Amino acid sequence: MTNKTPPSIIALDGPAASGKSTLGRSLADALGYLFFDTGIMYRAITWIAIQHDMNLRDESAITELAQKAQIDIRPPSKTDGRSCDVVIGDRDVTWDMRNAEVDANVSIVSAYPRVRKALSEQQRRIGLRGRVVMVGRDIGTVVLPEAELKIYLDASAEERAKRRFDELIARGEKASYDEILRKVIERDRIDSTRAVAPLRPAADAVIIDSDKMDAGQVLAHVMQLCK
Ligand code: C5P
Repeated sequence: MTNKTPPSIIALDGPAASGKSTLGRSLADALGYLFFDTGIMYRAITWIAIQHDMNLRDESAITELAQKAQIDIRPPSKTDGRSCDVVIGDRDVTWDMRNAEVDANVSIVSAYPRVRKALSEQQRRIGLRGRVVMVGRDIGTVVLPEAELKIYLDASAEERAKRRFDELIARGEKASYDEILRKVIERDRIDSTRAVAPLRPAADAVIIDSDKMDAGQVLAHVMQLCK
């Protein structure tokens, strides 16, 4: 077997809770690459807007926030499952921005074209440095269409809701499977029908259905694609 250099830019897209972060993180670790979860940026803007009681339907105000916000991403300070610390001001919001209220509203914020422009320009600048696994919804289609490897990680809504449910229970939080399923389906509906950069596989993406695969099998499959 011939081993060639792994692709330098890897785009990893897919619907909510499809296992992108788990795969992206272990893939980046295995290759010694930067792992960049772009969902953090949309979540952080949504979290700040909620904190400041902003009207999420006020596109101009939310856009201005996205253009100005200082979101600090630092190496993880705790071993509680996080891949980085997300700090806004002097507050660690790593888990806060994964709460149910942000989940329910982030797709409204991420549908605004100028919010997307502000955030995806930053993502592109970082991604073009290479040696990166970038995770999101539009990385292979819009942010880094030149990525040498594009993965679209899919799974049924039921399987994804189950994984998110297990994750919340493991963190000691209360959760309802039915509620999670309903929200996952709604978030995907908004993400895939928005006018700008909708969730969809790039034409040259490798589509992986992870319903019947565990995290180790998905990683092994993608490592194979990197060779
Ligand atoms: O990946 P995660 O579930 O954390 O993403 C949260 C939300 O951020 C998504 O539902 C989507 O609305 C938005 N997002 C996006 N484009 C990206 C990454 C995330 O629109 N590249």
